This record gives sequence, C-alpha cells and structure tokens, in this order.
Amino acid sequence: MALIVAKFGGTSVADVERIERAAEKIVREVEAGNQVAVVVSAMSGVTNTLVGYCGEISKLHDLREYDVVVSSGEQITSGLMAMALQKRGIAARSWLGWQIPFKTNDMHGKARITDIQTEELKKRLGSGEVAVVPGFQGITEANRISTLGRGGSDTSAVALAAALEADRCDIYTDVDGVYTTDPRIVPQARKIKKISFEEMIELASLGSKVLQTRSVEIAMKQGVKLQVLSSFEDHIGSDMPGTLVVQESEIMEEELVSGIACSRDEAKITLLRVSDVPGVASKVFSPLGKAGVNVDMIVQNVSADGQFTDMTFTVSRADLPRALEVVEKLEEVEYEKILSSDNVSKVSVVGVGMISHPGVAEKMFTTLANKGINIQVISTSEIKISVLIEEDYTELAVRALHAAYGLEETA
Ligand code: ADP
Ligand code: ASP
Ligand code: MG
Repeated sequence: MALIVAKFGGTSVADVERIERAAEKIVREVEAGNQVAVVVSAMSGVTNTLVGYCGEISKLHDLREYDVVVSSGEQITSGLMAMALQKRGIAARSWLGWQIPFKTNDMHGKARITDIQTEELKKRLGSGEVAVVPGFQGITEANRISTLGRGGSDTSAVALAAALEADRCDIYTDVDGVYTTDPRIVPQARKIKKISFEEMIELASLGSKVLQTRSVEIAMKQGVKLQVLSSFEDHIGSDMPGTLVVQESEIMEEELVSGIACSRDEAKITLLRVSDVPGVASKVFSPLGKAGVNVDMIVQNVSADGQFTDMTFTVSRADLPRALEVVEKLEEVEYEKILSSDNVSKVSVVGVGMISHPGVAEKMFTTLANKGINIQVISTSEIKISVLIEEDYTELAVRALHAAYGLEETA
C-alpha cells in the first residue's frame, strides 16, 4: 500500500468526459490498495480566459483580486472530480486551498507555499477517503486568496506530496513524459526516461512548461519521487511509462546537451543613453524587484564615450506594463529614451555535460546564423546557453538546434 499524490493538468480535465477518465485512474489506484490525494488544474483554457478578464478591466489591476478571479477555475474541477469519484463508489471530498489550508506568502500572482496542514487530510486518507485538492491556490497570512504563478498546480501537487510524505507524485498531462524539446514543435523529439532534477529545473525555468520550475525545486529539496505520465494512456503494467525525475547520480549516461527549451513569455526593455555612473544598475533594478518584477537577461554595452551606455533587460510578458510603469517613474536615473518590445522569445540549450565542452556555444551560434536568425541578447550558466531572438523565428530555431545537436529519436 502506498500514499500517492496524482495531479491532472488542464487538458486532462478539459471537460466532464475527461474528468471521468481521470477518475477511472484514481479508482484503479484505490482498488490497488493505495491512499490517494488528487490535485486538479482548471479545465484547459479557463485560466487564460480569467486572466484575460482581469486585463480587460485594467493592465495594472490589484493582484489580490486577480488571485480571487484566476483561482476559481480549480474550484470547479475539484468539485466535479469529487463527484466523479463518488459516482464510482469512492469516498471522496474536495478541499479548497483555504480549507486545508495551503499557506503562502503574500506575493500575489506568484506566491510561494510556506506551510500545508496535513493532519486532517492524513486522518481521512488513512480511513480510505480520497482528497481532491485544487492546485494553484492558497491563502496568505492576511487571509487573502493567493495563486502560485502559471502552471502552479504542479507545485501544489509536489508540495502536498512532500507534506504528506507520499511515496510518489504522479503528474498526469497530455504528453507521456519529458522530451528533448517540446514534441509539439519537433515531432521527432525523444522521450527522456530519466532526467536529473538540475536539468529539469533548468529546462522548466527556460520555458519547458511540462513541469513548473518550483515543483521540481521542491521535489529535489524534499526528496519527492516525481514522475510525468500521460493521462490518456494506460500506464499500469508498463515498466517505463513516463519520465522519472531523479538525482544526477542515478543517471548512467550523461548527455552533452539534453534538451532545447523555448519561451515566448518574454519582453525586453531598453534604456537608451543611460548615464554611465556607479550605482545606476541598482537604481534601475531595485525598484523593479520591489514591484515584484523578475528581471531575467541583462546586457549593458561598454560605454564608448565614458558618459552614456545602453541597457537592455528582459521581463516576463505579463510584467511588461508594470515594469514600464516603474522605469518611467525612475527619478534618480537619467536616460534619453525607453524602448520596449514583446515580439521576442528566448531559446536555450541545456545539458550538464556542456560545462567541460566549449564547442556547444559555437554550434548554437553557427546554427542560428546559418538560418539567418539574429541574436539580440545572450546569457549563459554552467549548464545552459540562452539567446533572445525575434519571436517569429522561435520554432525554426528550436528545430534547427534540435537537429544540430543530434537529439532526434533514432529508429
Ligand atoms: P498540464 O495542463 O497538464 O499542466 P502543460 O500544458 O502545462 O500541461 O504542459 C504539458 C505541455 O508541455 C505539453 O503539451 C508540451 O507541449 C509542453 N512541453 C514543452 N516542453 C516540453 C518537453 N521538453 N517535454 C514534454 N512536453 C513539453
Ligand atoms: N490553471 C493554472 C494555469 O493555467 C494552474 C495550472 O494549470 O497548473 O496556469
Ligand atoms: Mg502545466
């Protein structure tokens, strides 16, 4: 007998029929003698619609109210999932984020879980009741509803698995595992049977939305056994059904490059002719940090005349209006003009093996040059290289790089 947290993403609960299919998987787990907590996302498309409503009212809406609106999709699917289980003779009930509670900090729109009370849940699971928990949502110290950032139901599931000391956290989604790149962009992408936490964190944070980054960080830190599975296929009986996310030491063959990620959730801001004096970067980026805007890539040109420089940085697309508002109000920084664009995307090559292989970067730049793709910004770490390019070239870049590093499935 095992304690399992099973999470179903948006496409896996997209309508009543799919909710019933997901419920069948839970029935199988219960019949096998397992205790199960189910975490559900909103029906696919619902969260986008809700986010859209908020933007229609105001680009700079109150994020506490945004959370009240966007968390509601998960409430619907939890009730429906509990009903579908009850219909199949399973004792089940829903537990909204505030009822458990899932406590979070007060960074509305991208809150972090601080504590999950599991006493009552554990008791009920022990008596054979299935708990159905909406992903994505929590409650702050100030008693306000919070959400965990887009894709946050993965994090709800892993954090719940850690708090319950579950034997496994199964992430059911619309692909049967983690691939060398998004299989919707490159159909020849190869399924990775085991991927290290480090590489998965990097891929996720660079745009492979199959898992939310924070969920993998929590799994790594808390030792949660995490696997990605298809909700549309039957995995019971198969010995290698999806992708296991494991410690690096458990991986036998280390690849030079393990995957290509891309993110369209990018926007860039350039400050033209900023005064080139000490402290200017801190005066630009501190207020952005205080406004809850995460800055990702940064380039500052070497000042030719010692007086002025251009500074470019990227933020997530959703943060662009907020970031521009902050930058336009900067008082202590002098610059000539602000330029901004959200017609950009970030493409990244990831692999733990690249630390010791300098040729990886060269291959990336040559491949993009051969396709006539202009690189606007570059950033690197030990296990990744990212470039910012014009959005229209995203898919071309991903396909070309996937082929250049020989990542395709071989027959
Ligand atoms: P869910 O609604 O189940 O949370 P998501 O849409 O968030 O599902 O994540 C699954 C999607 O992630 C897939 O449909 C796929 O298009 C995309 N994806 C991006 N990169 C990868 C990758 N490397 N491997 C698998 N899927 C990926
Ligand atoms: N429904 C939320 C979203 O679309 C959370 C999730 O599905 O993980 O971002
Ligand atoms: Mg997701």
